[in-house]
Amino acid sequence: GAMRHLPYFCRGEVVKGFGRGSKELGIPTANFSEQVVESFPSDIPTGIYYGWACVGNGDVHKMVLSIGWNPFYKNIKKSVETHIIHTFKEDFYGEILSIVITGYIRPEKNFDSLDALISAIQEDIEEAKRQLDLPEHLKLKEDNFFHLPEGKIANN
Ligand code: ADP
Ligand code: MG
Repeated sequence: GAMRHLPYFCRGEVVKGFGRGSKELGIPTANFSEQVVESFPSDIPTGIYYGWACVGNGDVHKMVLSIGWNPFYKNIKKSVETHIIHTFKEDFYGEILSIVITGYIRPEKNFDSLDALISAIQEDIEEAKRQLDLPEHLKLKEDNFFHLPEGKIANN
């Protein structure tokens, strides 16, 4: 399952997504480039995860993340999208996003309505906030990975 890949450390450039209108829903998702996505373990399950995220040398914030099938590539490639639980003054396309994924919430689902989708995401965000306050997840907020820009990525 998902757990054996966690915690998972990842760093890469934020690229333009495929305009699903996440921001219009109030839930912008910073997309990683295809190259970064390809570096993920091929058997990591799709679904909703949570963890910590940092843009450039900025503060470390809670995040929820989706690993899904990328409609732009006819669902043959994965996409990895991070919603940082923080209000930013500006977009940060082109910046380096560092994340550590610490937990798994649920598999991907289809929703009957936009409202159902939005409330599911709101629940995911609340679940992530609660889980990330627990010591086993909280400790990764302080990981050297976020403090050393050239820090080595040592997954597992
Ligand atoms: P796209 O389809 O280009 O990914 P989105 O509507 O998903 O567009 O918006 C994502 C962009 O919004 C990110 O690349 C980033 O520059 C910006 N952004 C602003 N606030 C956040 C946030 N809290 N979490 C993630 N991205 C954010
Ligand atoms: Mg996006």
